Amino acid sequence: MVRYAPPSASASPRFAGIKTFMRLPYVKTTEDVDFAVVGIPFDTGCCYKNGARFGPTAIREASTLMRNYSMNLEIDLFEYLSGVDYGDLDITPGYIMESYRQIEEGLRPFFEAEVTPVVLGGDHSITLAELRAAAGRFGPVALVHFDSHLDTWDDYWGQKYTHGTPFRRACEEGLIDTAHSIQIGIRGSQYGPEDIQGSRDLGLEVLTANELHRIGMAEGVKRIRQRTGNARAFLSFDIDFVDPSMAPGTGTIEVGGFNGYETMTLVQGLRDLRLVGMDLVEVLPGIDPSGRTAYMAANIIHEVLAVLALQKKNGAR
Ligand code: MN
Ligand code: MN
Repeated sequence: MVRYAPPSASASPRFAGIKTFMRLPYVKTTEDVDFAVVGIPFDTGCCYKNGARFGPTAIREASTLMRNYSMNLEIDLFEYLSGVDYGDLDITPGYIMESYRQIEEGLRPFFEAEVTPVVLGGDHSITLAELRAAAGRFGPVALVHFDSHLDTWDDYWGQKYTHGTPFRRACEEGLIDTAHSIQIGIRGSQYGPEDIQGSRDLGLEVLTANELHRIGMAEGVKRIRQRTGNARAFLSFDIDFVDPSMAPGTGTIEVGGFNGYETMTLVQGLRDLRLVGMDLVEVLPGIDPSGRTAYMAANIIHEVLAVLALQKKNGAR
């Protein structure tokens, strides 16, 4: 049994070496690993600013600052987890149907081997293909969706496959266990009241940003856990859930979001979530020279990995 982990930062400075996620070994394997980081640099499904094709590279670079121990969850990630950076899947820019086929095929081996894929996007359109791959192995999965947007619109300019429509398609295709699914952080201007109603009509629970601010993060965690229960869950994290003051590098910003502390509190609250896969999407490093958006993304993923480590330690996975 091989164990894959980052090199020691006390022997090799964190700024040294090739920039894989947390400096994990770049190995294309699904054997002897609990999770694999996979980049999907597809960004031509977006309806406004693009540039998320450079998200995986930026998140990897930012992630090398992360240390192995989570103080909040009191666990060393790599004491319990073996993980690799699998590199990127090949996609076909500008051709979403072909890219969907490539993504679904590319991710299927991870779900078959019950290795948790940690996907670095890319725009949010890619999640539909990820859910196809997940549902192919597990059947419909609970969706835990952090975003300022619903992404359940029916079409953009008559097109059914965009980054604004993946979850409506996923519901139509039966990929989502809607009774255990929730969208968290929804805010900003809408096309009309039918937007949120549209998600609720699909059977999804919607926890708006207003309500989450009002009830607080601890209650928010309870709402998420009540909804998801013991269902197998897929976590889809759009970085625009975070307030644009802290994550400005994304294409469709909405004010009134959540800060880093609040976001971390929510992620740490998912420690009992039965997670089969995740993605983190919509990081556009080209419009954030500070790099803080990618760093926020790396931290969110780090905390999810800490959750996985805790579950492994407790024998829950
Ligand atoms: Mn989104
Ligand atoms: Mn969004």
